[in-house]
Amino acid sequence: MRIARFVAHGDPTYGVVELAEDQGENPETIAVVSGDPLAGAVHFTGERLALADVRLVAPVIPRSKVLGIGRNYAEHAAERGAEVPTTPLVFLKPNTSVIGPGEPIVRPPETENLHYEGELAVVIGRICRRVPIERAADVIFGYTVANDVTARDLQSSDGQWSRAKGFDSFCPLGPWISTHLELGEAADLDLVTTVNGEVRQSGNTADMVFSIPELIAHVSSFTTLLPGDVILTGTPAGIGEIVPGDSVSVTVSGIGTLTNPVVSED
Ligand code: MG
Repeated sequence: MRIARFVAHGDPTYGVVELAEDQGENPETIAVVSGDPLAGAVHFTGERLALADVRLVAPVIPRSKVLGIGRNYAEHAAERGAEVPTTPLVFLKPNTSVIGPGEPIVRPPETENLHYEGELAVVIGRICRRVPIERAADVIFGYTVANDVTARDLQSSDGQWSRAKGFDSFCPLGPWISTHLELGEAADLDLVTTVNGEVRQSGNTADMVFSIPELIAHVSSFTTLLPGDVILTGTPAGIGEIVPGDSVSVTVSGIGTLTNPVVSED
C-alpha cells in the first residue's frame, strides 16, 4: 500500500493511494481512511477522491525525531574528502524541519551554499529499543523519499550539524509511505535526484555502507524509536547546490517522486 496524508477540506487526513499502474485506465484516486495508521487500526470510510483534487502533505510528522546517517555511500564520502565511517555516523534533524511534497525549501540568510541530498527514508512502525539486526523488518512501517537538505557551509563552520541540517523546511518527505516493500527490495532501489530536470545524483540503495537493518540496530542501541520516527539512510554521490527558483526532485524506484521548489527567506 501507499499511505499518503493529504488535505482536501479541513484537517490533514490519511488515505491509500491507488495509482494508474494498479488500476489500468481508471483515474488515480485516494481512498480515505479514518484515524492515524501509525497510531493504531484504521478503516476505509468509503470516500474516494481524485488524487489530482487533493494536496499531499508530509506523510508523517515524526512525533520525536528524524535520525540522519552521514556518509553511508562510499562515493559520497569520497566526494566530501572523508573516510567511510567504521560505525554509522548519526545526527538528528528536528521534526520541525519536515515539509511535504510541493512545499518550499526555504534558504535562510545564514547560508550561502545550500545543498540537496536525495535519500531513502525508513519510517518506524513500533516502539522499540535495541532491535537485533535480524528483527529489524518487524519495526519498519514503510519507506518514503527524503531530501536531507544541508547548509554545506554551516556544516563545516559549526562542526556540529544540528543547524546545518535542522533549519525549518530542511527535511522534505513524501510523496507517500510505501508499506509493501520487503527489506530485500528496499536494498535494491534506484535513487535519482534532478534539479530543474537535470540529473545530479544517480545511485542505488544496494551501495549503502551500512544496511537498513544495521542502521536500525545501531540507532536503537542508544535511543528508543517511536512509531513515526524516520531514519534517513544517507545520500549517494553527486551532491550539489540549489538556489531560489530551482525545483529539486528525488525519485526512488518502487516508491515515487518527491518534488520541492526552493525559495529565499529574505
Ligand atoms: Mg544526508
